[in-house]
Formats: sequence, C-alpha cells, structure tokens
Amino acid sequence: MMRPPANVGDDAGAIDTPALVVDLPALDRNLDRMASFAERADVRLRPHAKTHKCPMIARRQLVRGAVGVCCQKVSEAEAMVVGGVSDVLVSNEIVGPAKVDCLAALARDARVSVLADHPDLVAAYGAAAERFGTTLSVLVELQAGDMRPGVEPGPAALELARRIAETPGLRFSGLQAYQGGAQHVRNFDERRAVSLAWIETVSATRDLLEEAGLRCEIVTGGGTGTYGFEGESGVFNEIQPGSYAVMDADYGLNRDENGNFVSEFENSLFILTTTISRNFPGFAVVDAGVKAGNVDQAMPTVWQRSGMEYVGASDEHGAIEVSAGAAEDLRAGDKLRLVPGHCDPTINLHDWIVGVRDGVVETVWPVSARGALL
Ligand SMILES: *Cc1c(COP(=O)(O)O)cnc(C)c1O
Repeated sequence: MMRPPANVGDDAGAIDTPALVVDLPALDRNLDRMASFAERADVRLRPHAKTHKCPMIARRQLVRGAVGVCCQKVSEAEAMVVGGVSDVLVSNEIVGPAKVDCLAALARDARVSVLADHPDLVAAYGAAAERFGTTLSVLVELQAGDMRPGVEPGPAALELARRIAETPGLRFSGLQAYQGGAQHVRNFDERRAVSLAWIETVSATRDLLEEAGLRCEIVTGGGTGTYGFEGESGVFNEIQPGSYAVMDADYGLNRDENGNFVSEFENSLFILTTTISRNFPGFAVVDAGVKAGNVDQAMPTVWQRSGMEYVGASDEHGAIEVSAGAAEDLRAGDKLRLVPGHCDPTINLHDWIVGVRDGVVETVWPVSARGALL
C-alpha cells in the first residue's frame, strides 16, 4: 500500500494528488435516499460492494438498513467479512476448487450466498460445503440476454433449482435476475420498457418454481439504472444497486422521466488532480491519467468549472481542453475535481478514499478490496 494522500484533520486544499476524494455529506445523502426508497417500496436493500470495495462505506449502508452486501469476487467477499459484514451474496458463478473452498470456508464466519447456472457448479459447491461443514445459500441466475452467465428462464431454472434443493450442504434461496444491459439505456421510457419485460419473465419463472414447491425466499436484481422498476414490481424482494453511492460521468448520461439528466443521486466521488503544465493557452496537462481514473465507458468530466473538458488520458497525464474564455481561470499548480468516467474500476485503482466535510479531511479509508480479482 502506498502512503495516504492526506491525513485526518488536514485542510482539503492540502490533499496530495492524484487522490480519490469523497464528499461525505453527498455520500450520506445518496445512501439515505436509496435506504428510504427501499423502506418505502418494502424491499430489502443489498448494495453492491464491487463499486466501493470499502468496508467503511458498507458499514454506512448497513446502519441505514441494508441486509448485507453483494460482491462479485470471493476475495472481495473475504475483505467485506474481515471488515465486519456478516451477510454476503457473491453475485457471480464461482468456478475452480481454490475459490470454491474459500467460499465454503468463509461460510463459517458469515452468511454466504452464491449463484449457479450449471449442475457442475452445484455439485462443486455442495462437496465443498460438506467438507467444511458449512451451508451455502445458492440462487439460480437467470440470463437476461446480455452475454452474462445464467440459465434460460423457465424450465431450465426449475431443473437447476431442484438440483440445488436436493444437494446436501446447500440451501436453495431463490433467483438472481440482474439485467446488466438495462442499467445504461439512456432514455427513461426505453429503460422502463426493457425492465418491465424482464420483470414479467422473472415473475413467470418464480411462479413456476413456487408451484413446484421451491420457495424463492430471495428474488434479487436491479442496479442504479433500474432499481425503481424492480423495487416497485412486487416480484423482486431485494435490490442490489452499487454505483448510486458515488455516481459517475457514465451514469450521469441517463435521462429521467422528464428527459433531463438523472439527478436523484449526486456525484460524491472525485479524482482530485493537479494541473502540472499550462504552457499552451488551449490546453492543460493534469496528473490524473488512466492509472488514476478509468476511461472504458466515459471520460472523466471537470467538476463545476466551465470551459474545461477532459479530452485525453495517457498513463499519468490527462489532457484538459481549455476554452479561450476560461484561459485565465486555470494555472499550473491549480487543483481540479474530476467526476470519474466509471466509478467501480476507478476506485479499484486507489488504495485510499479521502473523505472531506466542510473543507476538512475527516476520514482516510483503505480500499480494502482493491485488486480483489480472485
Ligand atoms: C455491478 C452489479 C450491480 C450494481 O450495478 P450498478 O449499476 O453499479 O448499480 C448489481 N448486481 C450485479 C450482479 C452487478 O454485477
């Protein structure tokens, strides 16, 4: 781990760069908003921790009523349990004896759930759970037609659910039905139409299983783009959004029902960067390139500064195009806040998240599950 870019009590202006900075009041408002949605809609909230990878943010979600967290990797789940989370859903298929053993062993210290989309996985999960004397909850993942894992909704899901229910060491817990491709459908009506069609499909499969005596204790899905549809469906009883806590430039391009850019959650996460070269009027070079911020889905944007656009990223440099009107507003040494293009992989690039309130550093959190690839 590298040295932290700031210490508690520092003036926010003294934070070294590039650094990941979270505006704590904005973070808490986002967490409050999602928690009150879940309460109103009467669904359980299980935020996805692959976004923040940070047990202290998970803790803030749990104290607001979240039932646990989702993780995408076994090592991420281990980091969350070490960090105090007692209920984790690994919302992924886990393949290979090393990982499956870790998962089964982790179930000694936490409630652990995982997904299956094939009988071979069910057999491997069951054998490992028996060997460690633990129980794994297993959900059947339904494939939403977006090249993710899963089984075809309908009879294939029923057959796999039966297999889980009959396997010693396992408990059949329900259905995982996350529709990844729907989250970033920009137009609200289209996003809703795609979600509602999916909810119908999930509902029919749930009914099929329950008529066969396989109770779906959990029907879960829904990310930041669609949680409202799943949450109010009466079909899903759990939602698993992740990005809402911090948001990013890519999510900022989704539209709401009035055709405006979505605004229910705030940008609470920023890449703080320093202008390192300002020799040409039309552009500036900052110290945050692709090693400080991910650009796979969208470029970072410059926060609340007009006439400045982040247009290019190399290893350690970012290029900011500066309009003629803004040329006087930016000097070498000046710091800028960038909204990350894509929050999850950006956080994964940093060892620390610096939390700021009223211009003062209040927290310096380790990103404990950083690099959790296993
Ligand atoms: C990433 C992910 C989420 C969270 O999605 P956001 O768009 O970040 O809210 C939920 N469930 C699964 C399975 C995911 O992979």
